[in-house]
Amino acid sequence: MNREPITTSASRVRQVEAIANGTVIDHIPAEVTLAVARLLTTTDDQVFIGMNLRSTRIGRKGVVKISGRELDVQAAAALALIAPSATICIIRNYEVVGKNQIPIPEVFADVAACANPNCVTNHERWPTRFLVIDRNPLQVRCHYCERAFAADELTLLR
Ligand SMILES: [Zn+2]
Repeated sequence: MNREPITTSASRVRQVEAIANGTVIDHIPAEVTLAVARLLTTTDDQVFIGMNLRSTRIGRKGVVKISGRELDVQAAAALALIAPSATICIIRNYEVVGKNQIPIPEVFADVAACANPNCVTNHERWPTRFLVIDRNPLQVRCHYCERAFAADELTLLR
């Protein structure tokens, strides 16, 4: 006889500790959870990371919670390159006061390396610059070598 574990009460328990104030980045594809945390947090932030959590929407997901800091959504635009499906929630006194999709900027400035090995940005210390040429799916063009790339061809700089 199979015995299923009792999950009725466990499923109501939060998978990652709640924060009183700050920012929750949710619905991150599981495999880029740490990359998202590296991109958006500083060494001074108090950060809670959940990896490989169950999600009805995307199967397995990651969650990054930054305590005590409200992330500027525009500053999080680099997320569009690696986690376009993520959501950004601002939390005040344990309540969600704002929920945003990831905005797609016109330009990604100095957030990803150019995938063209011959590009000048890979040989000299120039900040990289990619112009968005298509939004769905996301495609960008390097300002310097003019090669076009799908978002998932690029590697983040941090
Ligand atoms: Zn380039």
